[in-house]
Amino acid sequence: MSEENKEYLELAEEDGGEVLHIEEEKEDLVSEEKDEKPDEYEEVCSVCRRPESKAGKLIHMPGGLTICNDCMQKAFDMFNQQGGMNGFSLQNMPFDMKMIDLTNLGGVEIPQRQKVKKKKNKGEEEKPAFSMKDIPAPHRLKAMLDEYVVGQEKAKKTLSVAVYNHYKRLAADEKDGVEIEKSNVLMIGPTGSGKTYLVRTLAKLLQVPLAIADATSLTEAGYIGDDIESVLSKLLAAAENDVDRAEHGIVFIDEIDKIAKKKNTNTRDVSGESVQQELLKMLEGAAMEVPVGSGSKNAMVPMTTIDTKNILFICGGAFPDLEDIIKERLNQQSAIGFRAQLKDQFDQDKNILSKVQMEDLRKFGMIPEFLGRLPIVVTLEALTKDFLVKILREPKNAILKQYEKLLAMDEVQLIFDEGALEVIAERAMEKGTGARALRAILEEYMLDIMYEIPKDLNIGRVTITREYLENTGGPRIELRGQLPS
Ligand code: ADP
Repeated sequence: MSEENKEYLELAEEDGGEVLHIEEEKEDLVSEEKDEKPDEYEEVCSVCRRPESKAGKLIHMPGGLTICNDCMQKAFDMFNQQGGMNGFSLQNMPFDMKMIDLTNLGGVEIPQRQKVKKKKNKGEEEKPAFSMKDIPAPHRLKAMLDEYVVGQEKAKKTLSVAVYNHYKRLAADEKDGVEIEKSNVLMIGPTGSGKTYLVRTLAKLLQVPLAIADATSLTEAGYIGDDIESVLSKLLAAAENDVDRAEHGIVFIDEIDKIAKKKNTNTRDVSGESVQQELLKMLEGAAMEVPVGSGSKNAMVPMTTIDTKNILFICGGAFPDLEDIIKERLNQQSAIGFRAQLKDQFDQDKNILSKVQMEDLRKFGMIPEFLGRLPIVVTLEALTKDFLVKILREPKNAILKQYEKLLAMDEVQLIFDEGALEVIAERAMEKGTGARALRAILEEYMLDIMYEIPKDLNIGRVTITREYLENTGGPRIELRGQLPS
């Protein structure tokens, strides 16, 4: 502390003010505080809102105020500029210093959600966050996914290998100079085909934090909308503000096709190409300044640094019109030479998406650098009627199983006949939102059943039939006495 600063403190003492012998007291206070409450969250400077790990040791002031050395020095510099204590006035203070409410020192409370967890101490740090033991092999991962996700065999296989290699990369040492490159994933599939569901299931199985963000809300920094870093803020929140855990998490950015380069635009493309540009750094792995406990940066939000090197990024989108681009390319190719007879066969191909190549995506409006950072491309099949019937019935927590369980609690057996399942699947196909429509349709049909059945204690079994769903008949009801015991 400079000589001048010491003078101020002495001056204040003479005036009868409360004196802080900062140099002597600061060490004691910090250690005392630590002994008293071994809090797992880092303390934050009440002025600049940086956590202790970034701002250095904090000085504890009366009334629960904590200030870092930089801010304290700034305060002293202010006093100096104003010509000492006498010339000092609150009006002349810069904005960030005014944020300390001097009339109410006790009132400065930073919410828990804006505090980051302390880094583990030395002993604990030696244990790597991920060891090879923790990562299920691809075939086991896929088997686990099979329990929840129907079909999409290729996607499940590709994702299982990608995720396995990603986490293997974290466990690998780089002493031999071979550095395994990051394997972010691009997932392409129609809406409601299970993209989000696949990622959510994977994160649950791996027990890693997951953030799901929507690319439509992202804009270039400085424009109205969310900054790129908001994606990492979500991940940090999912990891309960534990930076270490967040750095091993998964980020799913949905609707990535919405940030394609806008065609025929003369203005700056702030929610398209610019967002792709800004995402580049984050996808390849960089230390990013991230607001804690909020999606946006401002003076009142504490910041922390997250290294995205080990975060797995999965981008997903429906990419409408991509099929036409692929068909056009394939038709052009087959128009030449001996493959000419194949022309037009692609129009009937239901899974044309699986033939996607980087050049198609470039044509769609994704920039080459962005695509380069998503080396693994997974395509999902469009859902057919049979597929939807399976989704209703087969997964571990299938919707039908959930209804069966609900009625079983009233000791009533619930059965859907094949015709009824087909009707539900057909209605879902009409809505064009994939499997997402199934639940809403079923809810509607089941309302009366769920209302009426518990009224009559004699009912032992209900069978939902095609006729009931098509309003040409009722459900088949069997009384307890009619059922074989
Ligand atoms: P997308 O992200 O592709 O638009 P979602 O992942 O949100 O679609 O899918 C919507 C819902 O449909 C999921 O919550 C899930 O219950 C169901 N679903 C979709 N595809 C499948 C599938 N292959 N197996 C099981 N359920 C599925």
